Amino acid sequence: MAGKKLKIILLRWTVEPELLVAMAAKLCYSPANIEDLLKKITEKDQEKFVEQLVQMNHMSPVEHIGFTFAIEGISRACTHQIVRHRVASYSQQSQRYVGEQSEKNEDGIFDFIIPENFKALGEIKINIFKEQMRCIQGFYDYWVKVLKEESNVVGEKAFEDARFLLPNAAETKIIITMNARELLHFFKERCCLRAQWEIRAMAEEMLRLAMEKCPIIFSKAGPACVNGLCNQGKMTCGKIQEVRGKFKNLKEKNICNNMMPEKTE
Ligand SMILES: Cc1cc2nc3c(=O)[nH]c(=O)nc-3n(C[C@H](O)[C@H](O)[C@H](O)COP(=O)(O)OP(=O)(O)OC[C@H]3O[C@@H](n4cnc5c(N)ncnc54)[C@H](O)[C@@H]3O)c2cc1C
Repeated sequence: MAGKKLKIILLRWTVEPELLVAMAAKLCYSPANIEDLLKKITEKDQEKFVEQLVQMNHMSPVEHIGFTFAIEGISRACTHQIVRHRVASYSQQSQRYVGEQSEKNEDGIFDFIIPENFKALGEIKINIFKEQMRCIQGFYDYWVKVLKEESNVVGEKAFEDARFLLPNAAETKIIITMNARELLHFFKERCCLRAQWEIRAMAEEMLRLAMEKCPIIFSKAGPACVNGLCNQGKMTCGKIQEVRGKFKNLKEKNICNNMMPEKTE
């Protein structure tokens, strides 16, 4: 169906993530062997120690934790921004191998994302946007047909060129793996009110999911202003209290103070 909605599934995460971080950090400071260290770590609550590590910015242990998210109902405009984050791995649905011909969908248009500001203008404007997408579908179908019939191009070769007609609104699917350190950086940039609305909605949901598994490390995650000063200079949104309140709520809803997250997925 056209007009898709954002959906995010946390596919995989490192088990006992904060224990692993504690283990990696203790190794740096301890003369003990690995087995003794492991025993000590599991016997004692490591919450304070992990909190301290993050506070003093000893971040390499945090890189041992990985999260893999599956995301759909997102625009190409959004994934173009996501993949600018280099310390990550991505697998994205190909517009080359996956064609967008009108017969693919029941309403005859490729899937697309409708911007919230368009939606706010009401049904008539939404329908105008849908008709514009239908028009683009026509251009796309035209080129797939012409390429197949007039230049003997086959299979993905036709999609490869016809996709030049597709808009930034076209829906896509992506699997993202990031370590927790990169996620903290990603949340700082993309949960900020200055970030584009779609990537911001995505980042907030990713943060909510990551926090369920890793409450200590993500307890201070979010835009810069949540834990300090706004880093946007003259471009500041000026809504620091509102933003702090929002992230406080997000955290309070999720923090479970549990150092031992579930082991099965
Ligand atoms: C509000 C907003 C507006 C933006 N507008 C634009 C725009 O108009 N045009 C545009 O092109 N981009 C724009 N960007 C994208 C931005 O410039 C970054 O490319 C993107 O946010 C990825 O962030 P990053 O480079 O810090 O981090 P990542 O790629 O996630 O890397 C994480 C960190 O690793 C380090 N790192 C990674 N690679 C290198 C490297 N090669 N050299 C040195 N250090 C490295 C850096 O410390 C970096 O912060 C915008 C981003 C935001 C949040």
